[in-house]
Amino acid sequence: ELPMTVRTLSEAMGRPANQIIGTLMKQGVMVRINDALTEELALEVAMELGVELEIKRERDLEDELAAMLSDEYDEGAELEPRPCIVTILGHVDHGKTTMVDKLRSASVAAGEAGGITQHIAAYQVDHGDHRITFVDTPGHAAFGEMRARGANVTDIVVLVVAADDGVMPQTEECISHAKAAGVPIIVALNKMDLEGIDDQKILQQLATRELLPSEWGGDTEVIRTSGETGAGLDELLDTINITSELQELQTNPDRDAVGVCLEAFRDEGRGVISWLIVQKGTLEVGDVILCGSAHGRIRSMFDEHDNEIEAAGPSTPVKVTGLDKVPETGSHFFVLDEIEEAREVAEKRGHTGRSAYLAATARRPQTLEDILD
Ligand code: GDP
Ligand code: MG
Repeated sequence: ELPMTVRTLSEAMGRPANQIIGTLMKQGVMVRINDALTEELALEVAMELGVELEIKRERDLEDELAAMLSDEYDEGAELEPRPCIVTILGHVDHGKTTMVDKLRSASVAAGEAGGITQHIAAYQVDHGDHRITFVDTPGHAAFGEMRARGANVTDIVVLVVAADDGVMPQTEECISHAKAAGVPIIVALNKMDLEGIDDQKILQQLATRELLPSEWGGDTEVIRTSGETGAGLDELLDTINITSELQELQTNPDRDAVGVCLEAFRDEGRGVISWLIVQKGTLEVGDVILCGSAHGRIRSMFDEHDNEIEAAGPSTPVKVTGLDKVPETGSHFFVLDEIEEAREVAEKRGHTGRSAYLAATARRPQTLEDILD
């Protein structure tokens, strides 16, 4: 940012520098031609000399980016329903991966061939009239890290609790994370196919963690499931739909996209591959994006089945190529008009380093309450 000097002010006002220096001297301010002036002083001089002066500030791109995330940005826009984004959390070995595979294989079988051959960061399942997006974060630590970066992509947490094991330390951590995020929790009481399960004992454990089951008069839905046999998964999906309907999730699909990077890595052949989830707007091939301290133009886009696609709307997870480097997991992405803008911010962020960038994103207002605070 260039400071205003006596010289630049003189050029801007079309008055000799000596006049400015003289005016300031009368007010007891001694300056030379190359000295910097505050905005206040410059305006005083202009008034004294009868010149109308308008000071334009350099655009603060970070402020503009933060604004793109705010609800105010979409004021007056036509909002449309969007798929609910669900994260499955739970203690290790309680059956998350098995459940995800079951949910996916049902949807893969219904859709294209391919099967579950590769790691996916997120995928979508159609159930009833709804499409549900599942984010497969590797555990509650990643969930917490994303939150720390101000990237709250989850609308509902499914908490998997193995019925033979009950509430365990990581279960409790997941509960705290979900509560801190203000996200409703649906409990999947899992491995119900096992013999000799005492489900009442688990309900008791949940009740003492402020998750009073609905069958006991509370408002936590507890669904008995088996990832192994698939029992209860339909009911789980029904419950997700009912819960998300209450949330009335909607957003503006007709705008420059913003969202979050779920994962990214460098591929030998294709360069940087980034799993993004669109939160607002529609992401298109050819778009200029900024993501953390990475930037670029989207060269190609794929869905979770590796089908090449041209555009992705709200709550859609996609794999994209075209970023210049691997973006930070959990960082927001933004579609910008000019590649120069994206490069400028990316470079600034790259220089200030990771910790400063984290601090900046953590400070970003996320909700109206935050802005009013
Ligand atoms: P994760 O660590 O939460 O992802 O758990 P996994 O899905 O890897 O499952 C851990 C173990 O529990 C594996 O040996 C699974 O076969 C088994 N398992 C998972 N779900 C069920 C279930 O519903 N019933 C039974 N009996 N075993 C299950
Ligand atoms: Mg697993």
